[in-house]
Amino acid sequence: MTADTGTRGVCPRCRHPLVSEPRTLAWCPDCEWKLAAYDPLRMASDWGWRPLDRLLHRLAYRLDARSFRRLAGRPPGRSGNLAGRVLLLAVSVPFLLAAPACLVLGGYLFVAGLGLAPVLGVLLVLFAVLIRPRAPRLPRRFRLVDPARAPAFVGLVEQVAAACAAPVPQLIAVDASLNAASMLVGVRRRRVLAIGLPLWAALPPGQRVALLAHELGHFVNHDSRRGLLTGPAFTTLARLVDVLQSVARRGGYLFTLPYLVLGWLFWLGYVLLLVTGLRDGQRAEYFADDIAADVAGSAAAADLFDTLAVLEPVTRTVRDGGRDRASVATWRDAARYVRRDLAERMEISRQRSIREEASLLASHPPAGLRSRMARSRPHREPRVTLTDALAGQIDAELAPWYRQLDEAGGGWL
Ligand SMILES: [Zn+2]
Ligand SMILES: [Zn+2]
Repeated sequence: MTADTGTRGVCPRCRHPLVSEPRTLAWCPDCEWKLAAYDPLRMASDWGWRPLDRLLHRLAYRLDARSFRRLAGRPPGRSGNLAGRVLLLAVSVPFLLAAPACLVLGGYLFVAGLGLAPVLGVLLVLFAVLIRPRAPRLPRRFRLVDPARAPAFVGLVEQVAAACAAPVPQLIAVDASLNAASMLVGVRRRRVLAIGLPLWAALPPGQRVALLAHELGHFVNHDSRRGLLTGPAFTTLARLVDVLQSVARRGGYLFTLPYLVLGWLFWLGYVLLLVTGLRDGQRAEYFADDIAADVAGSAAAADLFDTLAVLEPVTRTVRDGGRDRASVATWRDAARYVRRDLAERMEISRQRSIREEASLLASHPPAGLRSRMARSRPHREPRVTLTDALAGQIDAELAPWYRQLDEAGGGWL
């Protein structure tokens, strides 16, 4: 069942009753007292150390709030400011040069070095291989949609792309997540539209159009996190931090020590890159959201962000309901139930997402802020509409992929 949003106690600042739920840090829904607090009982640890989680959550929350204030009520900028881009490049380029530099230095030490130098040379070359820039690949959990077997779905994607003035994706992929993405994969940077089927099933027709428009908007929103130079810096650093963390975890303290110095260095670089990238990343996300409002209408876009803010209770409802997860009806009914159940308290769900989704690692601004942003801008009518009949036809077309994912182990949720 959905969360019980009871109230207990009053706000020391404005005397409004607090939102207080079991195993949740209370906050004031009126003046937002304590909303910025990190809640270790509900939030996953990003960094594996609570004081650090708390500190970086506070930083992310503030950056979120600042981006929101800067952009609310205004037409969004098509591209970020120049100073931010230059800064991001300045942080990215040294990390891009790290691999070739290690390779050259390692090769030199191996050939010309004395004593232990050749060993160090080999280690440097191995390190260069580990951190070499790689073209992003489509994760294996995805299944490609054969366009010939989903003509109505492909037709809708093409219609929305045209309305967004965005190029049509070269591949459409689906997985079993409550998520969606657009990616550039391979050396040729092929455009992939990736849709989580449970999320697709959970959305009413208007919100489906808004979701497609947001994702296709990513192909035209000048997101510096995907730049040819800056994009690889994000992935390289994320991988480095990941490798160093898992080595340290497996190796115990003895092995941790040598990695500690190096790890911290990379880690600091990564955080710096995330902080500089976040500003333009959020501008790009809000811009894609604005494209969604332009194509699907502002009401459907804002409603989509509200649905995104209540995905956790949707998941819980499906899990408790014990119904077939490979069926559209399961997700559609659960989302419908949750939306109706929480309609009166939607602002509380938005606030919860603003607290819990504040993270330097988050790819998007919190759903609650996206909803508020969409509502802060002038009303727009939809330019593309999806009828119930066509939505049903698309569901029927996609049914084999629900089954394929289920047979492949699903990984639903
Ligand atoms: Zn208050
Ligand atoms: Zn996005």
